[in-house]
Amino acid sequence: MIGKKRVGKALLVLAGGALAVPQGAMAAPDPVLAKAVLMKSVAFRTVAGAGEVPKLAAYYASILQDAGFGDKDIEITPVGETATFAVTMRGTDPNLKPLLMIGHMDVVAANRADWARDPFVPVEENGYVFGRGAEDNKYDVAMMVATLAGLKQEGWKPRRTIILLLSGDEETDMRTTRALAAKYKDAELLLNGDSGGGLLDEAGRPVLYQLQAAEKTYADFEIGFTDPGGHSSAPTLGNPIYRLAKAIDRIAAYRFAPMRNELTQASMRLSADRIGGDIGAAMKRYAETGDRDAADLLSARPEFVGQVRTTCVATMAQAGHALNALPQSAKVSVNCRIFPGVSVEAVKAELVKAVDDSGASFTTLGDPVTSDASPLRTDVMEAVTAAVAARYPGIPVVPSMSAGATDSLYFRALGVPSYGVGSLFMRAEDGFAHGLNERAPVDGIPGALRQWESIVKALAR
Ligand SMILES: [Zn+2]
Repeated sequence: MIGKKRVGKALLVLAGGALAVPQGAMAAPDPVLAKAVLMKSVAFRTVAGAGEVPKLAAYYASILQDAGFGDKDIEITPVGETATFAVTMRGTDPNLKPLLMIGHMDVVAANRADWARDPFVPVEENGYVFGRGAEDNKYDVAMMVATLAGLKQEGWKPRRTIILLLSGDEETDMRTTRALAAKYKDAELLLNGDSGGGLLDEAGRPVLYQLQAAEKTYADFEIGFTDPGGHSSAPTLGNPIYRLAKAIDRIAAYRFAPMRNELTQASMRLSADRIGGDIGAAMKRYAETGDRDAADLLSARPEFVGQVRTTCVATMAQAGHALNALPQSAKVSVNCRIFPGVSVEAVKAELVKAVDDSGASFTTLGDPVTSDASPLRTDVMEAVTAAVAARYPGIPVVPSMSAGATDSLYFRALGVPSYGVGSLFMRAEDGFAHGLNERAPVDGIPGALRQWESIVKALAR
């Protein structure tokens, strides 16, 4: 409780200080509206299958219409029981490609019995809004809606057209995302409110801001072993369980080659001093030279291994059919997080080599989508750095590559440079996205709006 109170105080002081320096005489995005939109949107039960996404989309449309957007600026398109949403703020220069903003309206399922409060009844308590989606992703969606509403009301006209897109099944099938990406792929760049964001320390002081510019590819493989089987009193060498065990051992021991890109290098350089010690030194070395020993040292730490190489790990196994029979089949599922720029087929080929069992079958599950890292564009870095510095002077903007996957994946795959620039600053222990009792701090809202306004104005003016 003490921690929470201190968070509130620290943020209020910072917010008050920044508010004392108005950015312009005109009306700005309104924190009261933003909070109301956040709370109201939590009340829509937008879990997969509930059919509430179109209703939430209609609610966002009403807020934007009240602010002055016309009917033809807003498009809600049904996709099964869910929907996509798009609102366009037309730019004065038709030769410029549009700036896209994106978030998602759907949420992960939440079971009332497991929660201290009803997950779909928004409650403000101790400085937080509680409810499913309060963080992921209704917080930044509310901030983006309120930002565009405020900019429209103040009469601001961008040079570059701005389009806010909202997907409706980001947490499940991403059909709406694919539809949006296909329709809006001819864009200058995309700002995603569903990744990136700031970290506060335990006392509520800002530590750093992460700008997400790449996602690893998510891929699942199934490796299978079969044999005619027989009576367990007459063992054979081809026992699928023994072959499975060998394969799992080999996968456990296998190391994909260490890799770097400009994002992971920048992020390690910027984090090295803060982390310090052997790990900090290894980060610096790895960022500068790609040193293999440094890579191995970092790889021994679960929180860093994903930044150094492609990882594959056994996640499920199944084998045999009776206590007294030789097994006829065994299989293991292997989940891989693949470094941007590496194909799914190449990873599969390495697994085949590592397992080294000519009788094993390798199947790629689903249809993994690969995407390259987005370039660290100067205009984006400058816009985000300036916006974050105005909110919290002096904290570093650290480029990041996440383990995926957000809506950005499909846009990057179609060549739209995409950046996660969420406006939520949170303490690590307050992060409950996808979990129980999800919440977002209320006193960050004025700063979040200023951050969005500043970034959007810089990139669309
Ligand atoms: Zn999300």
